[in-house]
Amino acid sequence: MFRDLDNKEEQEFKQWARDNYKPGTEVNTAYHPVVQAECKLINQEIEEDSVDMECSICESKIEDDYGNNASPVNDGICCDNCNMSVVIPARIKIMLNYKRDE
Ligand SMILES: [Zn+2]
Repeated sequence: MFRDLDNKEEQEFKQWARDNYKPGTEVNTAYHPVVQAECKLINQEIEEDSVDMECSICESKIEDDYGNNASPVNDGICCDNCNMSVVIPARIKIMLNYKRDE
């Protein structure tokens, strides 16, 4: 079975998990329990992160990994819908106004 680790080794195992584990993939049960636990933690963190991926305009959940920059509408990110229907028109408007001022 698995031996007990001292603190330093435990940190190393956790670091190994961070370096080598690919999030979202199956956790290999042959890994040391410390590594397995860390893998689960990594997945949890990612899940929590993705919950925070919310459109700053319509507040719907953003499905892709990064969302779109909502500038100049606001400082956050936005979903594809708002990008197309709100953000891009706002940018075009600014561009047109800018040209008119010249
Ligand atoms: Zn939106």
